[in-house]
Amino acid sequence: MTFEEIKNSEKENLMHTYGRFEVALVNGKGSTAYDINGKEYIDFTSGIGVNALGYSDEGWSKAVSEQAKKIQHISNLYYSPLQTAVAEKLCSLTGFSKVFLCNSGAEANECAIKLARKYSFDKYGNIGRNKILTLVNSFHGRTMATLTATGQDAMHNYFFPFIDGFVYAQANNIDSFNSVIDDSICAVLIELVQGEGGVQPLNKDFVKSIEKICKEKDILLMIDEVQTGISRTGKLYCYQKFDIQPDVITSAKGLGGGLPIGACLCTKDLENVLTAGTHGTTFGGNPVACAGALEILNRVTSEEFLKKVEEKGEYIRNRLLKIKGVKEVRGMGMMIGIVTENDNAKKIANDCVANGLLILLAKNLLRMLPPLNITYEEINKGLEILEKVFEEDLK
Ligand SMILES: *Cc1c(COP(=O)(O)O)cnc(C)c1O
Repeated sequence: MTFEEIKNSEKENLMHTYGRFEVALVNGKGSTAYDINGKEYIDFTSGIGVNALGYSDEGWSKAVSEQAKKIQHISNLYYSPLQTAVAEKLCSLTGFSKVFLCNSGAEANECAIKLARKYSFDKYGNIGRNKILTLVNSFHGRTMATLTATGQDAMHNYFFPFIDGFVYAQANNIDSFNSVIDDSICAVLIELVQGEGGVQPLNKDFVKSIEKICKEKDILLMIDEVQTGISRTGKLYCYQKFDIQPDVITSAKGLGGGLPIGACLCTKDLENVLTAGTHGTTFGGNPVACAGALEILNRVTSEEFLKKVEEKGEYIRNRLLKIKGVKEVRGMGMMIGIVTENDNAKKIANDCVANGLLILLAKNLLRMLPPLNITYEEINKGLEILEKVFEEDLK
């Protein structure tokens, strides 16, 4: 098949829900991908933060393919040693008490939303204490509830009616937060670095203040770690950098290293809120996905590994700051946003692809989420392409 044939078939057979770059990828190794014509691309995307160990990592592929040969799915009617291994590992690494396994970030957030509402219902009764506070410019997913949770007016269109019971406050603005807090709120759901919203980190003071208010009012503090989690920011989870103890965190993207798996983690106080029959999912905790997740959790969580993520992130940010045409660089660890001088991130990203570099966009920024184990050789190759594209652009 040629690229044109694939493109035509996509147009004919898939719903047109994505704006795609002009390339069809067919294989990869480490942080290098190859297209249908064999052309090489350095990968600064990890498939949007998913391939934590890059493409076709040896240990990961072995774990996944061996599990596929053993047993691929059993449903949640039966016990699974792989589910328990993943949950045990997540709990021991974080101190959370219980895990619900699902298949995506949106689903992990759905679980958190249901858990928060039932916690409040069980404790206070059906008195309308059920609202979830989220932040303007956030992103929490594409299902009806998580889309409503997403604090972006532009996304609250077409699909009316949206779900009741969500209110929004400005990020990094405690007055705005206080102005929407009242007795109807049962939980706060936030990202610590707003990823899709343009790689916007929250201030530590703001987050600490939120935590204090939540504790005082028995409002659950729930952190959406779908993008920031799995060592992306230099800690297994980003909240560990903010010196806070959330009640709930959600995880997905990098967790499976390339297979669909999500998780919702809660503290001991919340461990009995969701019970048999109140929540579930057919595929959740699938053995093959769990085998992938277990390999990831065994490989990306040592102090030594986390230190390297920080160092590589620092190295990349320093080099980016030296590029003419780069106005601002922000983010944490290897979650990096780049504001361009000419507000032309989309054009730069397209030119990067044409020159053999895969890079993401977030709002009007360039965004980088390289595989956590990317080598300096690949980083340098990728940055050289980016430097060249900026140089050409300014000519
Ligand atoms: C990607 C993302 C989601 C949605 O995850 P899906 O797996 O696409 O459902 C939710 N929250 C955040 C912060 C994300 O970055």
